[in-house]
Amino acid sequence: MINLNGELKGALEKNGQKITKARTVIFELLKKSQKPLSAQEIQKKFTDFDRVTIYRTLEQFSRLGIVSKLALGGDRAYFEYAPVHHHHIVCKNCGTIEELSECLAPKNMSISKKTKKFAKISHHSLEFFGTCTSCHNRH
Ligand SMILES: [Zn+2]
Ligand SMILES: [Zn+2]
Repeated sequence: MINLNGELKGALEKNGQKITKARTVIFELLKKSQKPLSAQEIQKKFTDFDRVTIYRTLEQFSRLGIVSKLALGGDRAYFEYAPVHHHHIVCKNCGTIEELSECLAPKNMSISKKTKKFAKISHHSLEFFGTCTSCHNRH
């Protein structure tokens, strides 16, 4: 129990936040999940927490850098526990998500040269969209 939550507890305490039941179970779900989850999907698993608590927890995790918030098309935000930086490709047709293990963004260096208003780049988000093999073969 202590070991499992050590990571979350450390990240929360560093930011003056306490560990709560909701924070613990949502973090554990994301950590176990093999794929990014939408807030709706997370909400369905924890009907004893209200919607606001779940959304607020996810936004907080994202702000603190505990989980990544992903824009994978549509109007849903997805959340993912991603200790190793990576990108995704999403099927526009069925929503299948594949992880791309390598960073495909240009090096921050070249972006630093292009920006006029920013001194430092902290992170980036870059997702790809297309048609998966099974959708492609069906048509
Ligand atoms: Zn597909
Ligand atoms: Zn990257």
